[in-house]
Amino acid sequence: MAVFSDSAFDAHERVVFCHDADLGLQAIIAIHSTALGPAAGGTRLWSYADDVEALHDVLRLSQGMSYKNAMAGLRFGGGKAVIIRGENFVASDKLYEKYGEFVDSLGGSYVTAEDVGMSVAIMEMIGRKTKYVAGLVQREGQAGGDPSPKTSYGIFKGIEAAVQTKLGREDVAGLRVAVQGVGNVGYHLCKFLHEAGANLFVADMDDSRVSRTVSEFAATPVSLEQILQQEVDVLAPCALGAILNSRSIPQLNAPVVAGGANNQLETDADGQRLHDAGVLYAPDYVINGGGIINVACEYYHDATDEEVMQQVAAIGPRLTGIFEESAASDLPTNVVADAQARRIIAAA
Ligand code: NAD
Repeated sequence: MAVFSDSAFDAHERVVFCHDADLGLQAIIAIHSTALGPAAGGTRLWSYADDVEALHDVLRLSQGMSYKNAMAGLRFGGGKAVIIRGENFVASDKLYEKYGEFVDSLGGSYVTAEDVGMSVAIMEMIGRKTKYVAGLVQREGQAGGDPSPKTSYGIFKGIEAAVQTKLGREDVAGLRVAVQGVGNVGYHLCKFLHEAGANLFVADMDDSRVSRTVSEFAATPVSLEQILQQEVDVLAPCALGAILNSRSIPQLNAPVVAGGANNQLETDADGQRLHDAGVLYAPDYVINGGGIINVACEYYHDATDEEVMQQVAAIGPRLTGIFEESAASDLPTNVVADAQARRIIAAA
């Protein structure tokens, strides 16, 4: 398997392969940068076509975490891990404890938390073997717990900033928002949007998740094929990455794309495609930083839950700054955000 020649390899400091044959554990931890602090980013549990795909994913995601943590103003570098849901994978306490031992063996250069397929309960199992973990059960008045509601709150504030810039709207009342993927992040985002008076269109591979948003938030179900093309004011991708590409972008029917999924652009050139098409794109790692802000406050014990919400709300003005710089320079928003993130990391 090629590591250094993988297109997502970007001078990563360390890539660690974790294996326990008896427990069926195969994981990869990628540390992209520790320039700003311990490399922090969630662990993803996912089925990959092969090891090469898993490696590529973790390399991409960990670089994204460096940029995300830098843009959120955190004392964290960037890292990420994947646990491969392969043929021999069987979820067990022992498997997650073993994974916790691997995290611990890195001596704090990597801090983990939830990503797709994870839960607070699993983080607690990992936490039996390492202190380099967050997203644990929340204690009264302190930051902690499942980060996804904070992620969703940041996306909500980001959508408000985007519709203000693109549509001149003060709020989302009456606007149509299409949400692709209504899992942890998508569900809570729908809640914020519904409470603010938006009309929701949703799609998910899991019908029960769609039904929940239909009954709780009066959402309109849309097919998996249609959701990206739905005629709406805002498209909020909240499932997996690479959904904005040369095939999907010409089909979009939304002036704003602002959602929580990581790595939404298949390639950097897709940011230029969106810019050329007049679509305002909220860079994913800026708009979805609420969860990692929560994780940082939990890990460093330096903020109450209320203070976390204030820090997360700052995602709105941060995005407005990126939108303004993009308009002034005629550069795509992803290019503007990447340059800002790289400047912060280089300065450290
Ligand atoms: P999740 O697993 O709880 O939800 C993802 C949902 O997307 C699932 O319901 C799944 O069925 C659905 N889905 C998958 N493929 C789909 C498709 N093609 N069309 C429609 N639905 C599809 O995960 P999550 O925690 O909600 O994370 C969602 C995204 O947000 C991921 O990209 C994740 O990396 C990113 N993210 C999550 C957090 C967090 O705090 N959980 C923070 C930052 C970024």
